[in-house]
Parts: sequence; structure tokens; C-alpha cells
Amino acid sequence: MTIENKNCPICKKKSFNFYKTIESKITHIPGGLDRSYNEKIMVLKCKNCKLFKTFDLNNDLNLEKIYTEESISYEASLSKHNKLFDSSITTDEFNLITKKAPAKLLEIGCGAGQFLLRANNKGYKSLGIDLDKKAIDFVTNNLKLNAKNCKLIDLNENEKYDIVFLMGVFEHIEDPNQLLQEIKLRLKEDGELIIGLPNAKSLNFYISNLGIDSWDMFLEPGHIFHYQKQNLKKLLSQHDFKLVNYSTGTVKIRGKIPFLVNRNVKLEKFVNKCVKGSKIIRWIYIMLLKFLDLFKMGDILIASFKVNKI
Ligand SMILES: [Zn+2]
Repeated sequence: MTIENKNCPICKKKSFNFYKTIESKITHIPGGLDRSYNEKIMVLKCKNCKLFKTFDLNNDLNLEKIYTEESISYEASLSKHNKLFDSSITTDEFNLITKKAPAKLLEIGCGAGQFLLRANNKGYKSLGIDLDKKAIDFVTNNLKLNAKNCKLIDLNENEKYDIVFLMGVFEHIEDPNQLLQEIKLRLKEDGELIIGLPNAKSLNFYISNLGIDSWDMFLEPGHIFHYQKQNLKKLLSQHDFKLVNYSTGTVKIRGKIPFLVNRNVKLEKFVNKCVKGSKIIRWIYIMLLKFLDLFKMGDILIASFKVNKI
């Protein structure tokens, strides 16, 4: 596979340098949000803005196909409806949203609709879109929510929203500049944009990078760009979006434990069992994860932006 040295979408220059290759052979990892890996990944890093870009060297991923036919959005997000498997994050996404219900909310990449359901229950007039037909069928038929199996460009430009929300989507986007233009067209003048994505300045990032499997977010199928607060802010500012607020959060229970260097399936299962089994251990564990958020070092960066009116 030849790696094209394309321009950095933020710096608009050929500023990517080789960072590392990762060979991961993790299998039989606990269910939930994590998938098994048998991958060889090349990571590039922009020398100016520190944006990471990943390429899968083993599998020539057909991105359109993994979202539409393999239903990775549906598979990854369905478990979030299971209360026993607590995949909620340590920071409530709604804390970042200043507009109150019944504001109009659009979620891009709504998956199985876990966030959309919460938004709807809070009284927001919400619409979810996703490329994954199975996910949209679930959202419309089982949850009875307003959702469409389409791309953002298929939505009428004259229909404007107060809030546009993306969680775990932006890092999959090959042309973030184009997406931001499309979002801006559909936001009201004082609208807000909330983006949640893997935090390339998390404790998990620094710790995992020391280990053999590196950062698990580099290995997720379909992840292309890996942002941190500064370069995300820089990218958004090029589209007149101003950073208003940001926070981090960590999925309370998933396979990878943010404090461990390497993946250890037995230990991960043991920790999950203890956390689920005891209220006290669970409280301590969640407090440890919340402690990371104090330093903005949780696994997920959530940032809110408003259009900068000059
Ligand atoms: Zn750059």
C-alpha cells in the first residue's frame, strides 16, 4: 500500500512525518465497544499542529462499506442501551450544551440512538442521521425517534438547527473541512456545535504509547485523524467557529483500562467484574476516571463551538 503524503487538513501543507508503525495481535478482548485487533497500522504526525493520521497497512478498508454494510456504527453503539454494561461517560454531554429544550438538535452519526433518546427525553426536537441502515431502522422502529439513513449533504440546507452534535464521528472523516462547511450551512446564526472525539492528549494516549499495542484509538477501524484540543480549535477557527467550552470524559466500563500500559484481557475482565460487582469499588474507579477530567486527560475530548460573529 502506498501512503500518499497529502496535505494536513489544518496546516494545508505536506507536513506529515512518519511517527510509528504498530503491529497489534490482540484477540479475545472483552465485548462491548472494543473490537479484536490483528492489524498493522502506520501513524503519521503533522510537524506543525501535531495532528495524527493513521493508515491500515493490512486491510484495505472500504470505508463506505464498513459504515453501510458491516454496520460498525450499529454494532458499536447498540451495547450503550444496556444499563448493566455502563458505557456512559464520566462527563454528561449535555453539560456542554447551553441551548435548552425545545431547541432543534441534529446528531450526525447517531448510531443506535443512545444520545438521541436522551435528547428526546429532555425535550429537544431532535433528528439523527447515520449511514448505517440497520442503526437507523433500530432508532426509528424500536426507539420511535426521528432519524434518517442519509448523509449530511442530503439534508435540506434551508433547514437550520440550534445544535449540531457529533460523538465518535469526526475522527472518521476524511475531509473535515468539507464537513465543517456543510455543518455551518445548517446551523442557525447563534447555533452551537458539539464535537466529541478520542483525546490525543489523554492519559490513556501517553501510557498506551509506551506499550506494545500503542493507543487503542489508533487501531479502531475507520479512524483517520486523531485530534487534541489545540489542533481541533485551530481547524474549527478556520471555519469561523470559536471554542466556547471543553471537557473530557471516559467511558466508565469498557475493555481498555486507561491506567494500564498494555492490554491484558484477564486483568481487564477482572477489573470489569470488580467494578460491576461492588458499589464501593465502582465508586472509587469512577472517581479515578473523573480525576483525569480535572486535568482534561480523559479518553474523550468534548468541545463546544459557536460561530464567531465578526
Ligand atoms: Zn498540521
